[in-house]
Amino acid sequence: MSANMRTMQIDETARLSGAYSGLKLGHVPVPEPGLGEVLIKVDACGVCHTEVGEIENRTPPSRLPMIPGHQVVGRVVSAPGNYSNDQVGRQVGVAWIYSACGGCGYCKRGYENLCHRFVACGRDHAGGYAEYMTAPLEFVHEIPPSLETNQVAPLLCAGAVGYRSLKLTGLRNGEALGLTGFGASGRLVMLMAHHLLPLSPVFVFARSEGERTIALELGAVWAGNTTDRPPQKLDAVIDSTPAWLPVVSVLAALAPGAAWSSMPSVKREVTKARSAGWITRDTCGKKNPSKP
Ligand SMILES: [Zn+2]
Ligand SMILES: [Zn+2]
Repeated sequence: MSANMRTMQIDETARLSGAYSGLKLGHVPVPEPGLGEVLIKVDACGVCHTEVGEIENRTPPSRLPMIPGHQVVGRVVSAPGNYSNDQVGRQVGVAWIYSACGGCGYCKRGYENLCHRFVACGRDHAGGYAEYMTAPLEFVHEIPPSLETNQVAPLLCAGAVGYRSLKLTGLRNGEALGLTGFGASGRLVMLMAHHLLPLSPVFVFARSEGERTIALELGAVWAGNTTDRPPQKLDAVIDSTPAWLPVVSVLAALAPGAAWSSMPSVKREVTKARSAGWITRDTCGKKNPSKP
């Protein structure tokens, strides 16, 4: 296919400011899928704070220009080889893990993000801020066609890391859950907790009064500022801030044996907390370069 497509791409990395908005409109050729890949017509792509990290060079793109976007939902429009008929028309999603080797010890244990050949979607390979993208068939996810594309897209990052964190806390129905920070992932975790653990009260710590209000509207039994104390001890806390003050402050609210679970991007804070002997459990476990 030789036609061009529109993209929003990162041409240079720099501090975001009034003069620099980070993304520029681009026109590039529609990519050609290689063997084992599919070409996807993008219908929706979520926006993630990690893209600010890419633009401001905290997790820089492997090359420039780079098309970001790792919460992609679309339809397969072509695939080379003799499996094309099986693929065309499928609604699929692409997430942060664009590809990995598939054969190393990390990949075999389901830790593809730690693979030495890990490739991040939208950072190391062109992502979903475009009309089309290619992706390896084995790393695209089936999306039921009955689901709305713009509702599914955030599940591919904020939803996935939130679900992973919730599962790794080992929280049982009825035990108290705390959430430090209440952005996209925190809100999705709250909804998941209500569904999976309907008897578990949820306590939210957030700096913003607006976020605390939303937390209460979504069913939190308590919402306080970062350093406030909840009315009871918590059996698990999931942190998504990621910053030092919320991590340290919430430790005082943990019940004995509680789980503290962190979404990615907190390597520095987790290291500090580990060295202080405070962490009972964390779910970070990721190399910094591969954080979503
Ligand atoms: Zn993300
Ligand atoms: Zn591997």
